[in-house]
Amino acid sequence: MDSYKKLLLANKAWVSDKLSAAPDFFEKLSADQKPEYLWIGCADSRVPAEEITGTQPGQLFVHRNVANLVVHTDFNMLSVLQYAVQVLKVQHVIVCGHYGCGGVQNALNHRNLGLINKWLLHIKDVYRIHERELQQIKEGPERFDRMVELNVVEQVSNLVDTSIIQQSWKDTGFPLLHGWVYDMKTGGIKELVKKDKDSFVDPIYRYDL
Ligand SMILES: [Zn+2]
Repeated sequence: MDSYKKLLLANKAWVSDKLSAAPDFFEKLSADQKPEYLWIGCADSRVPAEEITGTQPGQLFVHRNVANLVVHTDFNMLSVLQYAVQVLKVQHVIVCGHYGCGGVQNALNHRNLGLINKWLLHIKDVYRIHERELQQIKEGPERFDRMVELNVVEQVSNLVDTSIIQQSWKDTGFPLLHGWVYDMKTGGIKELVKKDKDSFVDPIYRYDL
């Protein structure tokens, strides 16, 4: 059987399962969505947002890209963020990175990978900002892990620096911002950073709202 056909068969089985547990499952789900969380994660196939957080359809609004970046000129991510925060009124925005991230790894070397070089430049910027700390860690897995963590922390700061978040904090006091890292070797998630409306915003990034 063509491998893709397995997916369509699995879908049929999933529909049957859901309907046998709750005959009105799809009726309810299709009526509206009120997700409490926005998830900004890596596109890596080993980090399935819903599965690792035990969430059901309707609970997570999801945006994924290579290395879970928050780039201020990325209209895709910004549109997701604005819609999630201002229209869906999510209470939490979670940036979740993962150890072993190929995007972070390639940003730390000098390979020319074509177009994606441009995207990975944003991770090289993270390295430059934290170079002093990173240089004190022996080159190898430990430095790589720390770089993954610092990348998450910087992306959460990038969220703080948007007028979208600052405006929402002023108007509603929400959302809370979270930086997490997922460990594929254990399945566990570690909290790295949490920011709320009272968190420090670097003056150069503050908007008159
Ligand atoms: Zn990744």
